[in-house]
Amino acid sequence: MKKFAFMLLLLLLVVVLPGHGQAASAQPQSKIFLDGQELTAGQGVQVENVNNSIMVPLRMIAENLGYKVDWDQPSKTVKIEQQGKTIQLIVDQTAASVDGKTVILTTAPLLKNNTTLVPIRFIGEQFGLTVKWDNVKKVVDLITPQIPEPNTDDSGSSGNGGTVVVPPGEDASGLSMVNGISFNDNRFIIAMEGNSQPVVSKVGSPDRIVVDLPNATFSDLFGTGQQLDPDLNGKLAITDYPDVSGIRYSLYSSDPYTVRFVIDLNTPKNYSVEVSGDSSKLIVIDLNAQASGDTTTQPGNNGRKLVVLDAGHGAKDSGAVGVTGKYEKNFNLAVILKAAELLKQENKIDVVLTRSDDTFLELKERAAIANNLKADLFVSVHANSSGSSAASGTETYYQREASKALANVMHKYLVQATGLSNRGVRYGNFHVIRETKMPAVLLEVGYLSNKNDEALLFTESLQNSVAAGIAKGIKEYLGVQ
Ligand SMILES: [Zn+2]
Repeated sequence: MKKFAFMLLLLLLVVVLPGHGQAASAQPQSKIFLDGQELTAGQGVQVENVNNSIMVPLRMIAENLGYKVDWDQPSKTVKIEQQGKTIQLIVDQTAASVDGKTVILTTAPLLKNNTTLVPIRFIGEQFGLTVKWDNVKKVVDLITPQIPEPNTDDSGSSGNGGTVVVPPGEDASGLSMVNGISFNDNRFIIAMEGNSQPVVSKVGSPDRIVVDLPNATFSDLFGTGQQLDPDLNGKLAITDYPDVSGIRYSLYSSDPYTVRFVIDLNTPKNYSVEVSGDSSKLIVIDLNAQASGDTTTQPGNNGRKLVVLDAGHGAKDSGAVGVTGKYEKNFNLAVILKAAELLKQENKIDVVLTRSDDTFLELKERAAIANNLKADLFVSVHANSSGSSAASGTETYYQREASKALANVMHKYLVQATGLSNRGVRYGNFHVIRETKMPAVLLEVGYLSNKNDEALLFTESLQNSVAAGIAKGIKEYLGVQ
């Protein structure tokens, strides 16, 4: 009977503690407090410590903190809004954005046991909370800051212990602002606003790579993703790459302002440097570069390909209006969501959508999303309209030479998918395919001003086959089988 009772207890535990059944060796359940009040109502939550980033279920952000949370399944994108501020995070990607500015997380959001886990420190601090983690008790403490008393002492600008003094933004000072760093796949990535050009050099005994950013400092975003002591020094611990022992960073000089990163190596390494983006930049120091002192960019570092899919128009901008009044924006979105769903099943492809619902984005925002993320390719879906109701058929547009090969591949599949007349691969000076920096095409699937085309474009079966064609074309172009 004893044994039976034990089994019963086990069974009860499995039933009473949801989540434990799936992951028998899961980390201990944790508790989360806001200003001393337990948010988790006595129930543990799944909290993971990933590379010293505390990850909590997204559900908790909505239910317990009351922030507005949107989860977009096709693009694996999390949008969190509070106090007029918007954070966007993408599962498995360290590049995130705060109010449209690219930042780099130390640890990407992840999916585990069907739960999306997000970095609580980063999110909490964006909304003004102080976040503390007790690793022994497994307790997350969220603390709302006291509104500071107005300081009547006008000399009180220094000595207020622990406050990081960050110079004003680049508009005021012309300084570039370092927003975040990460180290993944043997690549050191710096996210920065401004025009500072990195000066990178190799130093021996001990081996290290020094990256100086002249006329730059840390933005206040930086301190939310990384530890930054009051003297503006810190260190990123690296445990999973044997060649690198750590990355130190500091405001090396404040006259003139210079941010310095030192990649401490266990063995001499070559590197390549790549800078992308306009005002929002990503600087990549790639340690996967081959020997022989090669400092040029190496192609395809065993990484996944990043595809940005763009559904044209949205919200107040309906795009073309069909002969029976149907909106182009709805067709574009339906096709993009279906294509994303298909590409999401590919292990070697990450998909990001410029929009996944009926929202409005400026053209330059669409291009910036792809450029900031350093996407490998960009596909925009549209439907056409003509003054002549007879105009019918399928077109694929490119604007730059670098996009021609992609346009040819995509068009082949698009024409097959629609069965409409083949109006060819064409040059078109459209903003999103001109201002993006990767191969980019704009698909005009058919003509909404044509009665037959319009009817066809709003059938489920045509949308499915166009989405499948887009996925096939992208896979063929990227060489992903
Ligand atoms: Zn359009």
